[in-house]
Amino acid sequence: MKITNFKYLKAQLDQTPFEHNSKRNCSICGKQDSPQLELDESYTIITQHPEPIESACLNCLIEKKYAFEHQVEGGFLTEEGILLESEKFPYLKDSSDYSENLLPKETRLVAIETSNVQVLMSTPPFSAYQEAVWLTHCNDFMSFVGNWEHDDFVVKSPDGNAQHYFDEILANYNGDDFYEKQFSPTKSEYAQSIFYAFECSTCKIHRGYVE
Ligand SMILES: [Zn+2]
Ligand SMILES: [Zn+2]
Repeated sequence: MKITNFKYLKAQLDQTPFEHNSKRNCSICGKQDSPQLELDESYTIITQHPEPIESACLNCLIEKKYAFEHQVEGGFLTEEGILLESEKFPYLKDSSDYSENLLPKETRLVAIETSNVQVLMSTPPFSAYQEAVWLTHCNDFMSFVGNWEHDDFVVKSPDGNAQHYFDEILANYNGDDFYEKQFSPTKSEYAQSIFYAFECSTCKIHRGYVE
């Protein structure tokens, strides 16, 4: 089932932690008819709801009865607003590559309009092995479009060279032979890496990161 209501999430329901046919009732609206997210310490939500929330439904998110704190490229979206990565971890400013690596990401993040921050906070997280992090481009958050495998890189690359394209759009470089070992048809039998793919809604380019 494709999720269609969200600017920054264009993926299947099963690529999010929301579950269809959950037996739970939403702690906010009491209903069971919309996909549910069982809340645990992996998610921080913001809500005016007075009671503790164990489960929250997609409808209530769409109706803005609660919102998510999200991690994004260069920082965090919190109840108090944008928290830059180097504000949360001040030692990062002392790093030798701060000005060429993290600072440009933080600059891009603070350039994003507040209304778009609100839209992303009203978007479900995507399922990630460790951390769902929204990438940015063209002064906006990018849209999560799913997890890509070798065939996706072949189709999306301009010249069919999957590895070259992967290296070009990867936000977290992991070494020259990473694609070959983790994603190519000759990948290692122990390959477990996941590529989270994003599309810029302005210029349509793709970027992504691996875990
Ligand atoms: Zn609900
Ligand atoms: Zn763009």
